[in-house]
Amino acid sequence: MNLYIHTDLEGVAGMVHFERRDDDTLRNWDTRKRMFRLLTGEVNAAIEGALEAGVDGQILVNDAHGSGYSIIFEEMNPAARIIHGPLTRQPFWTPKLDDSFDVMFCVAQHAMAGTSGVLAHSCWCVNDELWFGEGGMAMALAGYYDIPAVLITGDDTVCAQCRELVPEMEAAVVKEALSPYNAVSMTPPEAQRTIREAARRGVERIDEIPPFKIEGPYSIGLVGGPGQVPSSPVEGDDFREVVYEILVRGYDYELQQQEPWPMMPGRDGVFLTKGQRRAMEGEEGKAD
Ligand SMILES: [Zn+2]
Repeated sequence: MNLYIHTDLEGVAGMVHFERRDDDTLRNWDTRKRMFRLLTGEVNAAIEGALEAGVDGQILVNDAHGSGYSIIFEEMNPAARIIHGPLTRQPFWTPKLDDSFDVMFCVAQHAMAGTSGVLAHSCWCVNDELWFGEGGMAMALAGYYDIPAVLITGDDTVCAQCRELVPEMEAAVVKEALSPYNAVSMTPPEAQRTIREAARRGVERIDEIPPFKIEGPYSIGLVGGPGQVPSSPVEGDDFREVVYEILVRGYDYELQQQEPWPMMPGRDGVFLTKGQRRAMEGEEGKAD
């Protein structure tokens, strides 16, 4: 049995700030390194769960957050191999994923844009009637090859969102979202135990977990949140080709920058949207 592990960083227990790759301060570098270590621990936990359940073939980890270089691969379980390197140079978002794989895990994922998860961003709209985040997209790309995604890990919101797509899949909730930037997190040993056990159950229950397949033809685009429809969707009969075309065209970074949940802390205990806050600061001649 061959396993593909798609990873991100925002869903790791302990992560509540977006990664700032352009901040060279020692403090920021220390935070980033801690998050990389936590991600590596969670990925290893997923690998261990798979091995316990009897995965005996290839285990391929896709280091798919930001720089494409967030997993400390020298500390990775030697049973696995890793795809890493700049995401912008990758041939595809899920390189090497094809029908030679039997099962997928989605580790350290975040909720879709416009919903109440920690560091929520990215929302795909399919055929103006189906919305999901990066976890859902990874599941759909696996489904394209009839591969079931049996495990989702991250906060309570992303786990609920992915289980809405495939209720049978295993979910390891390692943090509870309180706001876009606040969470109740498990400690690393607890998060890793939770992931390891869910990963093991997912592989053991693989026959009960269907692949996430979407019927074509397709009209797909990125939007700011569920309920929104893309202004210029890409259309076609082959799901993967449509997604490929959107990725080649490039993410709409304006959409990615949108405030993930409607609220962020303002002053005097008042919660404001990012737009409201900006307007307020503009009025007062203040800049962030
Ligand atoms: Zn990420």
